[in-house]
Amino acid sequence: MKTFDHSGKVFAITGGSRGIGEAVVRRLCSEGAHVFATYNSNPDRSAAVAAEIEAAGGKVTFLQVNVADETSVKEFIEAVVSTGGRIDGLVNNAGITRDGLLMRMSTKDWSDVIDTNLTGVFFACRAAARPMMSQRSGRIVNIGSIVGLQGNAGQVNYSSAKAGLVGLTKSLARELASRNISVNCVAPGYVETDMTAKLTDEQKAAFFGNIPLKRGAAPEEIASVVSFFLAAESAYVTGQVLNVCGGLAM
Ligand code: NAP
Repeated sequence: MKTFDHSGKVFAITGGSRGIGEAVVRRLCSEGAHVFATYNSNPDRSAAVAAEIEAAGGKVTFLQVNVADETSVKEFIEAVVSTGGRIDGLVNNAGITRDGLLMRMSTKDWSDVIDTNLTGVFFACRAAARPMMSQRSGRIVNIGSIVGLQGNAGQVNYSSAKAGLVGLTKSLARELASRNISVNCVAPGYVETDMTAKLTDEQKAAFFGNIPLKRGAAPEEIASVVSFFLAAESAYVTGQVLNVCGGLAM
């Protein structure tokens, strides 16, 4: 497997306790970074992940953060910079779904998804941009979704948030390029995590039928792309959305 060298790098990632975030944390730690990761509601899970990473010689620090809470996010980034000494990369991964058809979607389900999946990213980018600008270097990777590009029945809240991330990514890439900070978006299709575990086998089979590669992704297959966007090898890439979806969106 191709790996990237992140020795001595300090990365922050939201939602590192499970699924895609956990795979990103494990990968970046194995590639030499000190990773500051967050959990929201599941301290036991993050403690178990941290113990395994540390036993393998990796360096990870988990903190409790609610990305929808401005103060919580600001304190997280401040803790990364004060403890790690700098912040080389930020991965905005934390996300939730509250699916339902428009006519039955509550205002709370709309707001919870926008607050967590879009406003939370705004909070984290704003907090991280200042130290990155002072360093004159940095990488931001936002985890979007192909439904932000294609839409999905039953997900007007989620697809709106993910579409918003595309605009945020491109606008911020333009704002920060002169400071040597790149901003990119990784847009997965179907990934095998808790988020998709609730689908029935029938629903999964129907979904996989439409994917040219005929399967979902393992979280590690998203983590490798995130690692690329944080690596020296992608220095000339900014403002891009990369679909990692087995060919579903093309
Ligand atoms: P997941 O398995 O459900 O994990 C979600 C992670 O986000 C957990 O670590 C969770 O922490 C954290 N989180 C949730 N709400 C939070 C909040 N308010 N503040 C801070 N952290 C919070 O999700 P996943 O499937 O890995 O998805 C990760 C990202 O990929 C999301 O942005 C999602 O939209 C995107 N994505 C996923 C798929 C897919 O098929 N799975 C496809 C496209 C895009 P706790 O466990 O501590 O609550």
